[in-house]
Amino acid sequence: MTLKAAYEKGIRQLEQSGIAEYELDAWYLLEHVTGITWALYLLDSKKELDAAQETSYSALLEKRTHRIPLQHLTGVQEFMGLDFQVNEHVLIPRQDTEILVETALEILKDIWQSYEEKTPKMNVLDMCTGSGCIVLSILKLFGHPLSGIGVDISGNALETARKNAENLNLEAVFLQSDLFERVEGQFSMLISNPPYIRSAQIQTLQKEVKEYEPVMALDGGEDGLHFYRKIIQECRQYLISGGYLLFEIGYDQASEVAKLMWNAGFRSIAVKKDLAGLDRVVSGRYDDRIEAR
Ligand code: GLN
Repeated sequence: MTLKAAYEKGIRQLEQSGIAEYELDAWYLLEHVTGITWALYLLDSKKELDAAQETSYSALLEKRTHRIPLQHLTGVQEFMGLDFQVNEHVLIPRQDTEILVETALEILKDIWQSYEEKTPKMNVLDMCTGSGCIVLSILKLFGHPLSGIGVDISGNALETARKNAENLNLEAVFLQSDLFERVEGQFSMLISNPPYIRSAQIQTLQKEVKEYEPVMALDGGEDGLHFYRKIIQECRQYLISGGYLLFEIGYDQASEVAKLMWNAGFRSIAVKKDLAGLDRVVSGRYDDRIEAR
């Protein structure tokens, strides 16, 4: 079968089974199986797949029709221009989360510049790190020395995060802990994209998400705010004064999360929107002179 015939078969099969991005998915699977680039495909779409490639392309298409996420089939998701390994133990990095990382990088730059000495010691802790995509992309892109810790309750997630650190040639510490249970030290920044979907809403998510992504990484309790509440309540002793707390949030959670942060003594609270114009990130600055209410 030629590349072109395979690609067209893939498109048809995925379209017929109702996959939203059928064309893209058919392409990414073909690329994954053959290693071909789009430019080469355009030059030589009559090239034949070998038998093994044909078999594995068919098998992957079949799996995709059962709604197994594309990224579980290719094993990777690009995030902040970096490749992250993913599997059923971690949330697949979302494009929306790039806003969180971009905001973190801006704030870290400001903190860096506010220091008098040339190389201040700065560190960041990523709570509920999953694949490690947040802390690792911050470490990769910050451009100044910075140390990072990723915390997760799931040992399997941490194993994936450690592999990602190795692939990206980064040194980060990954710690298995139920939130702050085993965390020590104080940080310049605490950042988190915690589970924030209301428990009752999990059922309404698309099949790819509710059946194949870890529910542990999605479920934020009855009102979706469980992890924000816990992290905000417990985080003060883990932040330096002047340090920042940053969260990704669901589109309707900004005011509640901002209020929790205000009551815990955070100021300079800011909300950032994602590309769709929805509230996506809340950040605030910790000042140890302000009492928590
Ligand atoms: N921090 C990871 C991410 O943003 C995982 C988040 C989670 O599991 N809720 O992708």
